[in-house]
Amino acid sequence: MLACDAQRRDGRTLLHSNAVSIALPILMLPVPTQRYSCHGCGNCCRDFTVQLRDADLAKLREQKWEDKLGMPVTTEFRGTTYLRQREDGACVFLMDDGLCRIHKEYGFEEKPIACQMFPFVLVPDDVRTHVGISFACQSVRENKGSELRTHLREVDRMSRAVPETRVATYSAMLADSLSAKEQELDTLKQVLDHFLAREDVVLRDRFDGLAWLVANLGRAKLAEVRSTRFRELVTLLASALPGELEHLPLEPALPKQMRLLRQAVYARLEDVQVNSAKSKGRLKTVLTQLFASRAFTRGKGRVPPVARGILEGCDFAAISAVSTLSESPDRDAIDQLLSRYARATIQGNRAWGAGYYGWPAVRGLQALALNLACTAWTARALAAARGRTHASLDDVRDALGRIDRHAGRAPWLGSVGERMRLEFFRLDDGLRRITRESI
Ligand code: SF4
Repeated sequence: MLACDAQRRDGRTLLHSNAVSIALPILMLPVPTQRYSCHGCGNCCRDFTVQLRDADLAKLREQKWEDKLGMPVTTEFRGTTYLRQREDGACVFLMDDGLCRIHKEYGFEEKPIACQMFPFVLVPDDVRTHVGISFACQSVRENKGSELRTHLREVDRMSRAVPETRVATYSAMLADSLSAKEQELDTLKQVLDHFLAREDVVLRDRFDGLAWLVANLGRAKLAEVRSTRFRELVTLLASALPGELEHLPLEPALPKQMRLLRQAVYARLEDVQVNSAKSKGRLKTVLTQLFASRAFTRGKGRVPPVARGILEGCDFAAISAVSTLSESPDRDAIDQLLSRYARATIQGNRAWGAGYYGWPAVRGLQALALNLACTAWTARALAAARGRTHASLDDVRDALGRIDRHAGRAPWLGSVGERMRLEFFRLDDGLRRITRESI
């Protein structure tokens, strides 16, 4: 393992190898209000399908699990090898006490690298590797544990096992066919981070403001506003918030916009298990998803099965009766959670580039605004399924965990269909209207 030195630069922690190496320097997520340590809840072991690398397979063979457990511990699906799951979707190594059997018998560093790395997400750009964090982790959502900088050495060690995370693979783009010039994305991050951290802006205005700002960037002729002028534009837009929103009142979301929002929610909650897909077969799996997606999009009657039944027994009318997040008694805590999520996603480079399907920054930010609206809708749906008419902090935490677990990973969320959905939300103030409708 290479020895490393942590340095402070521009208020951010950078880690450099002191050995000769081409690895990019690591930048730990610069959101000081975010904390994390694993508290062993085991949720990630119940929830994720773990893809294995050759080095993981070699370790598992050396550990002789097949002999010990009397069954295969991996499974193949469409040319990829995964850790095997039990019928309920949990990892075969998850024990009754919630701990990992590999960890217990051989130690943390002998687990598959994806298990070690979670919830950290490494995103290289052309000059450094950003450390983002997934809100699919319960401790991240609850903001429990150590300051993130204390994990820097460990993240650096783990990144050596995933060399592609330490090389420049992505050329920064501002918009379609428009490369970002030096500092433009940093400017965008700084300005948005400052806005999202403002305590004088109320919950709904903060995220309506984000949707308004990114919609304006989508309309601007950015090719004519470069470098310093880009900074001036973004700063001007952010400084107009939240006051400008008062002059731009909105009608409620259109029925078509709400249908597309539900379709976007379904795409994010969709949760096909390898076990179930293998036993049903591809055609049946695809048809089942198609019918469920259509029923979800229609939004009438009972909510069809989704995400292992989290909305079981709920109907769409009950969801509509749940008040917005801004009317929740937990509004302030919800505000802090969603602000940390949005800031961590942007600062950790998970909103665009290698962190989000190679998308340019403006489209990636529109997707973030849509993810926030999807989180708010899902939180209200969870409240309805739990028999309440307002969403609690726990509802929002659970919703965010579901929405963020696929972000940047599920191919269908980076597809042409998703891009068309975002194009549609650019019309008639779509992003703003669906944001205000649920937040
Ligand atoms: S979800 Fe987070 S806290 Fe829970 S076991 Fe996984 S990493 Fe640890």
